[in-house]
Amino acid sequence: MAEAYDPGNIFAKILRGEIPSQRVYEDDAVVAFMDVMPQGVGHTLVMPRAPSRNILDADPATFGPLFAVVQKIAVAVKKAFNADGVTLMQFNEPASGQTVFHLHVHVIPRFEGVPLKPHSGQMEKPEVLAENAAKIRAALGS
Ligand code: AMP
Repeated sequence: MAEAYDPGNIFAKILRGEIPSQRVYEDDAVVAFMDVMPQGVGHTLVMPRAPSRNILDADPATFGPLFAVVQKIAVAVKKAFNADGVTLMQFNEPASGQTVFHLHVHVIPRFEGVPLKPHSGQMEKPEVLAENAAKIRAALGS
């Protein structure tokens, strides 16, 4: 049997405002924020407010609003960082590489010839994350 959703997970805390995050977008259903250990400049996470561990236990009604925002963020990060492309990643359960058990999609700007850094690698400086978040917000607004 699948494990139950744990409301004490770190992204649930971010949703409740109990720990800080660099948010770039939010609406009634979805929040997008900077990954603190980016695999590339502008690495953003998009999550539904609705609780589920991952796609295996999510209500299918979650995916429409979630992927509408994933697209919005993909377009914005490509523009904000003048990227050549955008990689989406999404992990389900530890065997797949998932480390935080609240459904989320990784949106990562990509540049020709530049490999991704390791998953959950090095912490980025808060001021760099803030600067990149501001660029994404600007791209979303224009
Ligand atoms: P996953 O392995 O798909 O569950 O990815 C979790 C992601 O969350 C990793 O890329 C981490 O770098 C990132 N992460 C962990 N803690 C935080 C946090 N407090 N704020 C933003 N991103 C985080």
